[in-house]
Amino acid sequence: MFERNPHGLKTRATTRELVSQQANNMTVNVLILTESLRRQIEAEGVAAYPNECCGILIGRDLTEGGATLRVVERLEPGRNVFEKEEQYHRFSIDPAQQLKAERAAEQEGKLVLGYYHSHPDHPARPSEYDRQHAWPFYSYVIVAIANKIPAAMTSWVLDDQTETFGEQKIET
Ligand SMILES: [Zn+2]
Repeated sequence: MFERNPHGLKTRATTRELVSQQANNMTVNVLILTESLRRQIEAEGVAAYPNECCGILIGRDLTEGGATLRVVERLEPGRNVFEKEEQYHRFSIDPAQQLKAERAAEQEGKLVLGYYHSHPDHPARPSEYDRQHAWPFYSYVIVAIANKIPAAMTSWVLDDQTETFGEQKIET
């Protein structure tokens, strides 16, 4: 996932504070991802194969009758800056690109909702590494790419208290 350099950490913590205030009184259990956005993630996963692709989910959290729908409106494909020979099972988004994406989202009145990455020839479930590098609030979308063909796509949110991932439903 992303590097926790002091600069990135500071920026991220500020965003996290803001969003956790909202998160306290709402449950985000559905991620809305249109067919075309889904296909875009799959295509990036196929193109990066046998390495992992990665990117940023940008959109809004909409409250509807007490429930919150997390609506992805666009994707910001990431540049995997992890060491080349490790990219088949690791990714790290360029911290400068992350900052830029957060500022752009803010200007559009949107939020960075989370991140997506692919699991080449591995199930669409978070690895222990994914869990250790995850932050609460964000949605983590994983697409499995089996032998260059898109397979399952899942979304996960880290529980702040237990630090374990819970699966989030994806709807179109
Ligand atoms: Zn992963």
